[in-house]
This record gives sequence, C-alpha cells and structure tokens, in this order.
Amino acid sequence: MNFGYREVCLDHDTGPRHPESPDRLRAIRRALKENHGVEYVTADDADIDLVRKVHDADYIEEFREFCDDGGGNWDADTVAVEETWDAALASAGLAVWAAEAALDGNSGRNTPFSLGRPPGHHAVGDDAMGFCFINNAAVAAQAALEADAERVAIFDWDVHHGNGTQDIFYDRSDVFYASIHEDGLYPGTGDVAETGTGDADGTNLNVKYKPGADTADYLAAIDECIAPAIEDYDPDLLLISAGFDAHEHDPISRMRVSTEGYGAMTDRMRSLTDACDAALGIILEGGYGLDTLSDSVTTVHEVFDGYQPMEPDDDVSDDARDVLDDLADQGFGSK
Ligand SMILES: [Zn+2]
Repeated sequence: MNFGYREVCLDHDTGPRHPESPDRLRAIRRALKENHGVEYVTADDADIDLVRKVHDADYIEEFREFCDDGGGNWDADTVAVEETWDAALASAGLAVWAAEAALDGNSGRNTPFSLGRPPGHHAVGDDAMGFCFINNAAVAAQAALEADAERVAIFDWDVHHGNGTQDIFYDRSDVFYASIHEDGLYPGTGDVAETGTGDADGTNLNVKYKPGADTADYLAAIDECIAPAIEDYDPDLLLISAGFDAHEHDPISRMRVSTEGYGAMTDRMRSLTDACDAALGIILEGGYGLDTLSDSVTTVHEVFDGYQPMEPDDDVSDDARDVLDDLADQGFGSK
C-alpha cells in the first residue's frame, strides 16, 4: 500500500497517559517495516479554504488561536499543544491525499492509506471533540467533490460513532455515511433511526451494536446492509474511516473484532469498490492497543498484497440480528 505519513503528526503531544499518543504511529511504522510493498508518501497541508467548507470559519480561527496560545485542554479528553495546529492541518492534508490519489487511479497494491493524527471523525462543524479537531475524512470527501467526484461514501468502522462526520453531512446527499459502533460508548449518538434529513434522507446508516459484537456480526452488517446500500448509492469514491478500537484486545471497547476480521472487512470494501467502479482510500481514526493497532493495519496492508483473510465460522448473534432487522425497517438491507 501507499501510506501517507508526516513526522509533524508526532508533534501533537497529548501528554504521558493519553491513549491517543504519537506512539500509535510509531508502532504502526515499526510493524510495517517487516512487510514488503510498503511505500511512504508525504502530502501538503490541507488547504484552509477547503477545511472551511466543512467547518465553521469561526471555529477554525478559535482552534488556531488556542494552539497559538500554547494549547491546553479543549475539553476533558481533547488536548492540544502549540504544534497541534500544524499536525491537524497535516493530518487533514494526508486524508486529502488519500482521496485524490485514489481518484487518480491508485488502487490494488497502491491503495492509499493516510496515517495522520490527530484523528478526525468526532470533530463536528463547529467544535473539537473526542481527540479530534479537524474532520479529516470530511475534508477528504469535500476535496473529492471539488475534484471530479459526484458522490462520496464513507464507511466508519471505528468502534465509536463518527458523530462529526454524520453532523457535517447529515443534510447533504452528495456524501453517504455508514458506521458500525458500540452502543453505550462515547459520544452516545448514532441511532439506527438517524438516516439523514431532507434530500439526504437515506444517506446516513448507523449500525449500533451492543457490546460484544464480533467479526461475524460486523461482516453481516456489511453484507446485508452497508455494502448493498453503498452499491445502490453508486459513489465515485469510498473512504474508510479506519479505527481499530473495535479489536477484541483494544483496551477501550468491549467489541470482539479479530485482526483477521479487519482483513475480512478490508476485502469486502475492496470487492464493493470493484462492484461499483469506485476509488478506495483509507484514513486512520482510533485504535489504542499498540500491538492490536499495528497488527491490524499490517493485515489491511497484506490484503492489498494478496493475502486472503480467514472468514469467521460462528453465526450472527441474536443481538446483532435485532439491529439488522431494525435497519431493514429503515429501508437498509433485506428482511
Ligand atoms: Zn474510536
């Protein structure tokens, strides 16, 4: 794969006990060293006018001034230092690179994966939240639409609901947002009934699973709801908001997706983009166990290098089946 990476993303220093630390990127890079076919690519900062198309100008100015003044606690979990501004623009720029490289035809072994931080999917139009300042996936989707894409789909498999991405595109039909997330976790949004508003009704798909959902449950959501809905939507570009915190050994969730499961989900997304002749780009979100994060990113890479991930052999749980039935009632999937 082609990995977008910039050293400045390490300068966003969240302090000694924060789970969203620069060690996450270091661990990924250390693990990828063992693999062939890994190419690193750099990218420009995200253009500030582009960022302002998905965020309020006043909020962006407030964030810039907050960093200029040395940073601090934006909220209880979301911390910045002076360098966070540069890291955030770099992180968003890497996501833009992933979208543009995908649209330019980078696929297969050259599929782009941006390894930026801070992550982005909790950042709403007018506020930072949940370790996120600039919504990288939203900026990348906007960049694709400013290029030649007419429709962009975002699939967010981070264990938390990407409330920011949903918020930014909730009334826009040019971006389809789908998420699988754990019920009861931060930030508490992402109900099945949240399907978009106005012309955009039907372009927001939330799979809110109870704690304990495993790879089989995730794949069922993709096979029965998410992939058919995205295929119907017929995007020009699919972006994956790729957090790895639903991993069975991640310290902050109770989901049970295996490392192989991330490979299987990647394989599904690759087939889906083939089926709808869409480009595919991947953007890092969360993932807080350094070993599970780096193993999972490596597995994603290996899938594009020819590895065939194992399929789970267990059945879909009753809890997951109930959620998928609810989604069918919302018009997503077959009942
Ligand atoms: Zn997360």
